[in-house]
Amino acid sequence: MRHAAIGMALVTAEGRFLEANPALCRLLGRDDAELQGLSLQDVTHPDDLAETEQLVAEIVNGRREAFQREVRCLHADGELIWGQVSMSCLRRGAECLVLVQIVDISEGVSQRQALADQDHHYRLLADNVLDVVWTIDLEGRFTYLSPSVQGLRGFTPEEAMAQPLEQIHPPESLERFHRFFHELLEDTAAGRPAPSFRGELDYFRRDGSTIWAEVIVLPVIDSQGRLEKLLGVSRDISERKDFEQQLLKANQQVEQLAITDWLTGLWNRGHLESQIQQAIARSERYREPLSLILCDLDHFKTINDRFGHVRGDEVLREFCHRIRKQLRRSDGFGRWGGEEFLLLLPCSDAAAAATLAHKLQKAISATPFDPVGSVTCSFGVAERRSGETEDSWLLRVNKQLDAAKARGRNHVVVA
Ligand code: GH3
Ligand code: MG
Ligand code: MG
Repeated sequence: MRHAAIGMALVTAEGRFLEANPALCRLLGRDDAELQGLSLQDVTHPDDLAETEQLVAEIVNGRREAFQREVRCLHADGELIWGQVSMSCLRRGAECLVLVQIVDISEGVSQRQALADQDHHYRLLADNVLDVVWTIDLEGRFTYLSPSVQGLRGFTPEEAMAQPLEQIHPPESLERFHRFFHELLEDTAAGRPAPSFRGELDYFRRDGSTIWAEVIVLPVIDSQGRLEKLLGVSRDISERKDFEQQLLKANQQVEQLAITDWLTGLWNRGHLESQIQQAIARSERYREPLSLILCDLDHFKTINDRFGHVRGDEVLREFCHRIRKQLRRSDGFGRWGGEEFLLLLPCSDAAAAATLAHKLQKAISATPFDPVGSVTCSFGVAERRSGETEDSWLLRVNKQLDAAKARGRNHVVVA
């Protein structure tokens, strides 16, 4: 056995050494400064180079989370060392670094001994990082938890290590973790390769709140190929989650705005048109009647002229409020343009739509609007004929509205 320690290094996406621990320096016969001028290519046997580079590339571009391989490494004195090499990706923002671990197995190292040392070195590394690094045994008990858990969850490592998983993760994350854990035990028992885990899990905090973390869990395999424990890294992503939440809300607001008329809060014309098309398809499929009411405020220009545009706007809003109170949940109501509004009435034939239009007429004309006084409205009603196009249907309902105006306004005319 050359050295009973695990070599660890951080390398760039191109394989250039950034940091190496003393064990790795010893293993390769080089000091830290010397290694920083080198790349993985310089310490890998030419026969293993192509495959190693390929695997590193897959890790860097996210196609693979981690790998473990036996790779021939080159000692500074030219000697060959068989190393059990594990690599995984550490993301720092957009940058991807590769964590390299090398165990010297060239002289039939006792893997148990190596893994014991590995723990020690994990500890050195883990004690000094912001991410929470942890290991658990196959019973799900913590065997190590880095001090940074205090920042993430508000518990000391000792407190957190004593907690059962139920006190660590809220139910949904707990379920996901359990599922992975069972799959891992099943796969290894069946001799299949041990899977790793990468995902977002939330954690309970001391104050009862929860916090989101990106979690990577890697199986640690001993020299006999047996699963020994799990190594996990949990990174606080609460800021990103908050941002995503805000973005989602903003997107929903934008979507809402895109279909809403700014003055009345009703559907705008574009949305009305798409709703009409959907309603037509539904009524054809289920052979249900479908009707439109088109209404237009009477002499609205006079209201504007006499009381001003602001009062005119108020009348439009009050008008919509009165109409809306008479409608069913399934009725569609939108602003067709100016002081013209359209009602889309599923499962309503001409008679039902006419009844509603008369109710609406009364709701507007029976009670004066403050402060402009009496307001009236004219209504055209048309039930869709089977097979009729949207354009032809709209044309007919427009004609009925024109007829209502021609009859002296404040009328309902049914096709
Ligand atoms: P009719 O009975 O024939 O429908 O007469 P009318 O005066 O209502 O019709 P006309 O088409 O001559 O005028 C419509 C008026 O509605 C003119 C326009 O300025 C006003 N109007 C359209 N949109 C708005 C709005 O958003 N706010 C206000 N205050 N007025 C509006
Ligand atoms: Mg009008
Ligand atoms: Mg009009």
